[in-house]
Amino acid sequence: MTKIGFIGLGAMGTPMARHIARRFECVVWNRTGEKAQAFGAEHVAEVASTAGDAVRAAEIVITCLPTSNEVREVVEATEGSWREGQLLIDATSGDPTRSREIAEQLAARGVGFVDAPVSGGTDGAEAGRLTVMLGGEPAWVERARPIVDVYAAQVTHVGPVGAGHALKAVNNALLAVNILAAGEGLAALKKLGVSPTAALEVINASSGRSNVTEHLIPERVVTRAWPRTFRLALLDKDVGIAVSALRATGVPATIIPEAKAAFARARFELGDEADHVEAIKVIERESHVEIA
Ligand code: NDP
Repeated sequence: MTKIGFIGLGAMGTPMARHIARRFECVVWNRTGEKAQAFGAEHVAEVASTAGDAVRAAEIVITCLPTSNEVREVVEATEGSWREGQLLIDATSGDPTRSREIAEQLAARGVGFVDAPVSGGTDGAEAGRLTVMLGGEPAWVERARPIVDVYAAQVTHVGPVGAGHALKAVNNALLAVNILAAGEGLAALKKLGVSPTAALEVINASSGRSNVTEHLIPERVVTRAWPRTFRLALLDKDVGIAVSALRATGVPATIIPEAKAAFARARFELGDEADHVEAIKVIERESHVEIA
């Protein structure tokens, strides 16, 4: 049986690793060791004391870290531990340029790299129903596919190394734009005397609907529940990657850079632990209205 190393037991990594541990031999490593120990106590998984030990013990390694910077740190810290024929599947929502550099570094040792960011949130990860976008050479992608399948409802090979990360950044830029636009629109409607519940009922039966209006706002904003499942800081990072992709390709852009500026401001005001949907709190505060 293929042995999988899983590095990064955060909000997403933990439920994803749980699916891996149920189907494959598994070795986990996490920077905060207690989380890895707790995972090992609950699941059939070895706990490595260093990232290098996890890499040495596994045939295929999955990383699920905040940004490509941490992926690069881990790859550098484990440099001597990789051997020819191994594969790194990077489930981080990473940066395509950094990913191409990491892939080149690993290729020099005969190690494959596939970027495999995910969409679907912590609920999708728990349910094993994530959407996965793969970037990489076809032979490595085919090796990655049966592994990521265990936590996915849809897996699509979208292009060469970095293509998955570029697509994920654009997807999340759309999420950011939708959060801001829906927040602003609903704040104005509330001031005009339209209740958010009535507005959402109409929008969700009309052409302006999105995941934000169908799920995030009714479940998190109107209820004032504000659960913390996906850090605003991470969405800010994703929109920044999308802005870089727009600049690199010379596509004239106004909307996504505006969303980047708004999210950077919300991150500054609310801090790195705030949830992405809490960006709406800034709109509420500035417009002196609650979307509830
Ligand atoms: P979290 O912040 O919950 O977890 C981050 C993980 O990375 C933790 O295990 C953390 O370890 C580890 N880590 C952080 N810095 C380092 C470092 N320098 N070296 C080694 N390990 C490190 O993030 P998420 O799980 O929410 O997100 C992971 C990735 O998935 C991100 O790229 C995010 O954008 C993406 N994503 C998140 C979604 C969500 O809904 N949360 C949805 C889709 C994608 P420690 O425990 O020690 O802090």
